[in-house]
Amino acid sequence: MNRPQLTAEAVPLPLCVVDLQGRMVDMNSAFAGLAGLARVGGPIADLDILPEWALAEALDRIASGMAPCSRPLPGTGRVRGRSVLLSVTGHGGASARGLIVTILPSVDGQIAEQEQRASFALESAGQWIWELDIATRTVWRSEGWQRALGFRADERVDDGEPWGIVHPDDRDAAAAMAERVIAGEAEMFEATYRLRHRDGSWRWFLSRGRIATRRPDGRPERLLATTIDVHRQKESEERLTAAIAESAEISRRLAALNSQLTELSDRDGLTGLSNRRAFEREWRLLVARSAERGEALSLVMIDVDFFKQFNDRMGHLAGDECLRNVATLLARAASRSDLVCRYGGEEFAVLLAGAGAAEAGLYAGRVMEAVEHLAEPHPASPFGRLTISIGLATLASGEAAERLLQRADDALYEAKRAGRNRIGVARAHSGRSASA
Ligand code: GH3
Ligand code: MG
Ligand code: MG
Repeated sequence: MNRPQLTAEAVPLPLCVVDLQGRMVDMNSAFAGLAGLARVGGPIADLDILPEWALAEALDRIASGMAPCSRPLPGTGRVRGRSVLLSVTGHGGASARGLIVTILPSVDGQIAEQEQRASFALESAGQWIWELDIATRTVWRSEGWQRALGFRADERVDDGEPWGIVHPDDRDAAAAMAERVIAGEAEMFEATYRLRHRDGSWRWFLSRGRIATRRPDGRPERLLATTIDVHRQKESEERLTAAIAESAEISRRLAALNSQLTELSDRDGLTGLSNRRAFEREWRLLVARSAERGEALSLVMIDVDFFKQFNDRMGHLAGDECLRNVATLLARAASRSDLVCRYGGEEFAVLLAGAGAAEAGLYAGRVMEAVEHLAEPHPASPFGRLTISIGLATLASGEAAERLLQRADDALYEAKRAGRNRIGVARAHSGRSASA
């Protein structure tokens, strides 16, 4: 029998020679003892002492004339925790007859011990470890995981599904991140996600990791990651975000309410025109501005004629409707820059910005026409329909605001006195007024 010239028995390590078909052709008693079932002639794959892919790869390499990588491989099955070294018998290359499989001793035990110590250190610093076996997509978790998620030491945290304990909303992103690292598109795995606690609640964790070991061909073998509990940070972050959003919403509502209040307090409830309050605030400013710029300004006072009788005959509701109609036509006849107000009861005031006596006269004429067009029956009036009287004054140079108001009021009084349903025009400076 053409056996390799090995004095296997003399080697103090478990050792076995494998041919290119993966059959064990020689072994020492240390190997036979360790592997238990091992018998010369049987396939080494049956022993489950090293990853299947590693063996296949090594045999492929020898068959194609290369030497297998002599890096120690992680032992599996009965030699888990130790390393398995693969090397070539003879001189390698085409003349190689097979593989020498050596089970390395205690160094690996020391490594395992070191790994355990490192994992203890990490766990006492509040970090838990998990490791994804990329070929099988299975996850190994360090012991601290049970504690982190409220499980007893003898209980399983997951059901073997690598992302099964991750919140459904966070799962795809985390898995995609891992796939990117595996594909070499990202160096680091980093993801924040919720994990299911034993009590059914979800807690936030931050995981960071990277490829820890690679296969001889460079393909990633294990993704190793540490995870910390960031639940409290995440919760206060969420509370803060919610508080900020809430206070923004409150100030938005306050601002809306505020402008609504101003609007309401400046509006007349019946007609929707500016009220006396708004008029009092605005009119002096408008007069002062016109005087300063040397621009024309006219004030028109309007009072509904015989309105007491209108109410008495037609009812108060009809009176209200009537006031609304007059308000509408006053506003329609004005332009946007004009200030149209309900001055009180059935009296209105209109400040015409930029309007001299002629333009103010035109405005008054339009208003009289519109009231006529309204043709509101008024049985108690000598005109048989609703009418108004108007007092009109145009700001004179150097005139005080109060004086302008007084002249407009006088002009209105004159129009009333002269029989109503007419426009009274104040004459500047004279203090007297004439009705048209
Ligand atoms: P004149 O032609 O001299 O202006 O006579 P008048 O009746 O219009 O004037 P008077 O000041 O005697 O009466 C005003 C009336 O306006 C009395 C009041 O009932 C009525 N009035 C005031 N405010 C309202 C209101 O909001 N709705 C209704 N329907 N009537 C109002
Ligand atoms: Mg009146
Ligand atoms: Mg009146």
